[in-house]
Amino acid sequence: MVFVMSHRRALRFAKTVCPICGSKEVARDDLKGDLLCTNCGHIITRRETRAVGKFEVAQHLKREGKLSFKRLQDITNASDDRLFGVLQSMVNMGLIEEFQGYYHLTKRGQRWYRQRLGQEWGY
Ligand SMILES: [Zn+2]
Repeated sequence: MVFVMSHRRALRFAKTVCPICGSKEVARDDLKGDLLCTNCGHIITRRETRAVGKFEVAQHLKREGKLSFKRLQDITNASDDRLFGVLQSMVNMGLIEEFQGYYHLTKRGQRWYRQRLGQEWGY
């Protein structure tokens, strides 16, 4: 990877630590959306850093009724730990419940989803 002056404008430092060398000098390539470690050259692709939000999870559960962890992962493209973290925090908030390996929205979760949906639409 060679840096030339004209490319510099497209690179911004991201709040990410390189998983390979631990460097904090990780830049985001706005054109491709990838993160690049300027220390060791490791490229952190968008797929690996794909964030998944509570709203997105709720949306899928609302549509499908119930989903397994694996299925949610397939749909959202999220990494194991990120998806697990989101699901865990939703369980803690009482928004979803896990039953025999499947997650579904609770009554509170459905209410929360409708409120969020209203916000998204600017009501
Ligand atoms: Zn690195």
